Amino acid sequence: MENRYSRQIRYIGEYAQDRVSKSKVCIIGCGALGSASAELLTRAGVGTIKLVDRDFLELSNLQRQHVFSEEDINKPKALALAERLGKINSSIEIEPLVEDFNSSKAESIVKGFDIVIDGLDNMHSRFILNEACVKLNMPWVYGSAIRNMGHTSFIDVNMNCLNCFIKTLPSETETCETSGVTNSITSLISAIQVNETLKYLGNQKYTLLRLFLYIDLEHMIMKSFGVSKDPDCRVCSLKKFDFLEKKESSWITSLCGKNSYHFSPPSKIGLDLQGARARIPQEFSVSAENKSLVRAHSGDKEITVFNDGRMITKNIEKNEAETVCKKIVLI
Ligand SMILES: [Zn+2]
Repeated sequence: MENRYSRQIRYIGEYAQDRVSKSKVCIIGCGALGSASAELLTRAGVGTIKLVDRDFLELSNLQRQHVFSEEDINKPKALALAERLGKINSSIEIEPLVEDFNSSKAESIVKGFDIVIDGLDNMHSRFILNEACVKLNMPWVYGSAIRNMGHTSFIDVNMNCLNCFIKTLPSETETCETSGVTNSITSLISAIQVNETLKYLGNQKYTLLRLFLYIDLEHMIMKSFGVSKDPDCRVCSLKKFDFLEKKESSWITSLCGKNSYHFSPPSKIGLDLQGARARIPQEFSVSAENKSLVRAHSGDKEITVFNDGRMITKNIEKNEAETVCKKIVLI
């Protein structure tokens, strides 16, 4: 019988393929970068892939999140992606996790994996991921994309870390929602992230080590900048984990996008979705529901309630959103 990986093995060899098949990769964020990375790693035969995402699929995601289809709308991304990947390659382990990636959970989420792929959409979460990887001595692959440009870097925390070249949390005025993004740049950045990951797992030379790659598809510019370890780096040299140790005391986090908030109870609860649905304010009408969530709209205001007690609100002022959430989740 023909080996499904024969074309890959012909190039990387049996030894590298064997290493890849025994590897465990954790993907944080299953949006454009994370879902595309997950598909390629699944096809390449990575032994175990963990998919971490707190969000559900929306119509506006389909333009670039090409693993998904219309039937996945309103499903939690991690679960819909796991279902799809299982159909692509049933011989590997897929571990979906519908969870918020924050300082309280970061270490336990990535621990035990060989490498982490960054599919996140904000720098605050990347700072947390960087500190978790330095603390646990794990490599990770940075990736970001907006408009028609993107960045990526393979970060071996023994050589340097994100904090060596990005010292402070940048103020993020641009998001994919406000500035847009092409599906070409997200596909390209995720393809490079996967290529670096497979080279690392296959024990081949990884060329983005100590390099920060910048790609601008509008002007067809591709540049790499050298990255060196900062001997005074707060994270990898001084081992200070400020972002990681600032445990999320609040149950509210601001999301990328105007007036969008994520509410997470201190511990997961099994929420009766029908009961929660009845507590949604009357001016909202339910626009989607399945076994994982209920979503309701009132004009441009949006509430999504998950069966683990989490909620996401959009276009609702913070105080009002908090009041509504407490009423629905009964916290
Ligand atoms: Zn550092």
